[in-house]
Amino acid sequence: MTLINENYLKLQGSYLFAEIARRVKIFKEENPTAEVISLGIGDVTQPLAPVVIDALHKAVEDMASAETFRGYGPEQGYDFLREAIVNTIYKARNTDIAADEIFVSDGAKSDCGNIQEIFGSDNVIAITDPVYPVYLDTNVMAGRTGEYIADKGIFENVVYMPCTAQNNFLPQKPTQHVDMIYICCPNNPTGTTMTKDQLAQWVKYAKENNAVLLYDAAYSYFITEDDVPRTIYEIEGARDVAIEFRSFSKTAGFTGMRCGYTVVPKTVMGYTKSGEKQALNPLWNRRHTTKFNGTAYIVQRAAEAVLSAEGQKQIQATIDYYMNNAKIIRQGLSDAGIEYFGGVNAPYIWLKAPNGMKSWEFFDLLLTKAHIVGTPGAGFGPSGEGYFRLTAFGDTANTLKAVERIKTNLNF
Ligand SMILES: *Cc1c(COP(=O)(O)O)cnc(C)c1O
Repeated sequence: MTLINENYLKLQGSYLFAEIARRVKIFKEENPTAEVISLGIGDVTQPLAPVVIDALHKAVEDMASAETFRGYGPEQGYDFLREAIVNTIYKARNTDIAADEIFVSDGAKSDCGNIQEIFGSDNVIAITDPVYPVYLDTNVMAGRTGEYIADKGIFENVVYMPCTAQNNFLPQKPTQHVDMIYICCPNNPTGTTMTKDQLAQWVKYAKENNAVLLYDAAYSYFITEDDVPRTIYEIEGARDVAIEFRSFSKTAGFTGMRCGYTVVPKTVMGYTKSGEKQALNPLWNRRHTTKFNGTAYIVQRAAEAVLSAEGQKQIQATIDYYMNNAKIIRQGLSDAGIEYFGGVNAPYIWLKAPNGMKSWEFFDLLLTKAHIVGTPGAGFGPSGEGYFRLTAFGDTANTLKAVERIKTNLNF
């Protein structure tokens, strides 16, 4: 009899996007002439930067002759890319990260999901609520949680840190001991961030509690305010307690190219059962080199081009384009009398459904009155109830049109 990993049976179905699709389909069948605009897109829409396209062509040529052909590369990524990451991302922010602390991968989703493998199965995890589901689900799969409690919408043995308007979307320190703390900043889905001082509090907390911060910085390039760190390592002491995940996906339109990286400083420690310190860097190196065979050479050349001076300029233009959409959405919501958060340091706008409406009630209202699709906040965790996510990844003409419809058809 082949036993299965029964932890998988605890997972909740990916109800959110399936349910959105179902409701949109019904609406379209009943209203065949309605032009539905999606402000729910969680994917980029603009093409790759010209320098990236050039680098791809050149790398393809490398593959066409025996002298320059590349087969398996280093699992951790080519030196040219790891060095470019050190220089453009870390040295530029005066942070002290070395190339052998960087592990290039096929994206941050894999890394955020796989990182838990190097930690003990008895560790307690803390997640924000609402949350990017990968952190939680991968720990459910690994058996690090209890059962799902349906009426509360939470798993046993997980510390949820509610982030709502009441606490300015700042996770509060857990009252019980936790070992692994997932923080996504700027946050998906709320679009909110933490200041240097607020993040420093978490670094301090992790130090005092021998915990590790798992810091997802996938949206760091969308930060516009000075007081928000671009990397956790801008915080003093973070090198001792934090692992950082980054991605070219939202930064440079690489969602279909697949390239990200994880920083595991050699100074971040875990403990054996008997209390001996163990650096996490060699453990992650072992895991990565055993289970992963490197990101495609041409993609790494493309990522290197993103990090060039010209590449940085070109991707910034696209990020500015998205952030202008965010501004249009924010202005429109203000005009319609709808309270919102985020959209300043992130491509996400997290609005409060007016008049105490629930997330799905607002979804239906927005769809039927304005023919706009967004994402119900309740789908990201129980504390997302009553909130709603709009994204700035659409094109500007549609965003403008959508906002006009909100202003005309929804007024509070
Ligand atoms: C999009 C996203 C990522 C990046 O995923 P990739 O696998 O690099 O495409 C990571 N974390 C969050 C919170 C995201 O929204």
